[in-house]
Amino acid sequence: MLNIVLFGPPGAGKGTQSQKLIKEYNLMHLSTGDILREEIEKQTPLGIEAKSYIDRGELVPDQMVVGMIGQALDQYRNVSGFVFDGFPRTTVQANRLDAMLKEKGESINLMMSLEVDHNELVNRLVNRGKESNRTDDQDVSIIRNRINIYNERTKIVIDFYKAQNKYRAVKGMGSIDEVFHGLCDAVEAYK
Ligand code: ADP
Repeated sequence: MLNIVLFGPPGAGKGTQSQKLIKEYNLMHLSTGDILREEIEKQTPLGIEAKSYIDRGELVPDQMVVGMIGQALDQYRNVSGFVFDGFPRTTVQANRLDAMLKEKGESINLMMSLEVDHNELVNRLVNRGKESNRTDDQDVSIIRNRINIYNERTKIVIDFYKAQNKYRAVKGMGSIDEVFHGLCDAVEAYK
């Protein structure tokens, strides 16, 4: 299996690049953000609880997202690998992901982190907010809160994968195709 963590701050382009990666390498996309938005849409108890965190730009509690990913891993067997998008976002989540994969005789192969300047992130999210109905992209103060939380709680996950020699920084500025080439270069170098 090829298991990739696609990492980076909100607005880095993880969703867009995940779509391209899964096509190129025939992988399964697992986005905690997408799963949470589906739960909200369906108004499940999990969705209703998650919405209050998401609308404030806070992280949803670890056990909720860990449970979701655990279910997804059980559901999609016989796939050639996963792209984890928006997960893990804390060191606790990273540890739990390692443990869940280990139970299946698997592991993360590569963690690729998209690097984008702060101002560019805010611009992209404000623009996305104009085109989508994502509540967390509508307000600059919520956007700033998400980027702060990334810097305070999520960025440190890089150290977790660095220690395992799996961390690769990839330029997230430039065109979608340029960024994608950078990601593919990192995957090919790994292979
Ligand atoms: P973005 O990368 O633009 O912030 P996502 O779709 O990945 O968008 O996440 C949207 C929101 O969903 C986050 O701000 C957070 O509230 C919640 N969320 C998604 N993934 C996680 C996670 N792994 N842990 C905690 N909260 C999460």
